[in-house]
Amino acid sequence: MRSSQTPNILITNDDGIYAEGLLELRKALSELGSVIVVAPDRPRSGCGHSITLHKPLRLERVRMADGKYGHASNGTPSDCVALGVHGLAKGDVSLVVSGINRGPNVGYDLTYSGTVSAAMEGAVNGIPSFAISVAVLTDEEVDYGPAAAFAKYLSELILERGLPKAVLLNVNVPPVPLADIAGVDVTRQGDRRYPGNVEERTDPSGRRYYWLGGDLPSSSLEEGTDVKAVADDRISVTPIQLDLTAHAAMDELTRWPVRQWLFKQR
Ligand code: MN
Repeated sequence: MRSSQTPNILITNDDGIYAEGLLELRKALSELGSVIVVAPDRPRSGCGHSITLHKPLRLERVRMADGKYGHASNGTPSDCVALGVHGLAKGDVSLVVSGINRGPNVGYDLTYSGTVSAAMEGAVNGIPSFAISVAVLTDEEVDYGPAAAFAKYLSELILERGLPKAVLLNVNVPPVPLADIAGVDVTRQGDRRYPGNVEERTDPSGRRYYWLGGDLPSSSLEEGTDVKAVADDRISVTPIQLDLTAHAAMDELTRWPVRQWLFKQR
């Protein structure tokens, strides 16, 4: 792992450069090193790990709400990490932190999450990375204080210890005051899913249009999962990996006659 006196810490999010969670994260991590902000110029939640290949990417230096400067990009969160690491920092980044996202990233959320994908992009580039979210599902006002403080603490630990290759951390903080946080759990990914609703409506000219989702997700509150920890007002820290192989399914699949296909062709 790269180490220097004042580490470069790259932060991004998927809620956009003007999101309050990004500002709070920057404030908290500024005490640990020099923080580079590269974030999407508009909200990009739910964009997953998409990258921009067929149009020019721009970086614009913008003044954030606290008067300091950051970089806004027309790209996705993953683009922002690539631009920050290779474009601005010339590879000298010791830590990538994505967040603080407004809304949970637990269970199957991870598959859709721009927040988590940005941290994955950090890991793809061999940089220790984590994503952090406040698990609020309503439009209530959020106190990012506890999540920001935990982000700083975890960043210190990671800068000191590193992370295993191709492993990143996904953190969810319950939306409660510091005094009500019941603990910190190392968890596994749960299986919270969305009901998959498609609402069909008709526009004024009589053409059909659709809205995805709408209903709150359902989860099984299995012990040891990210979903359960957050439901119990505990901070959830899940190690996740770039290797998506379902190792437990390999044996079974090896017993299928998949390899015979080629012999049947001859
Ligand atoms: Mn988001």
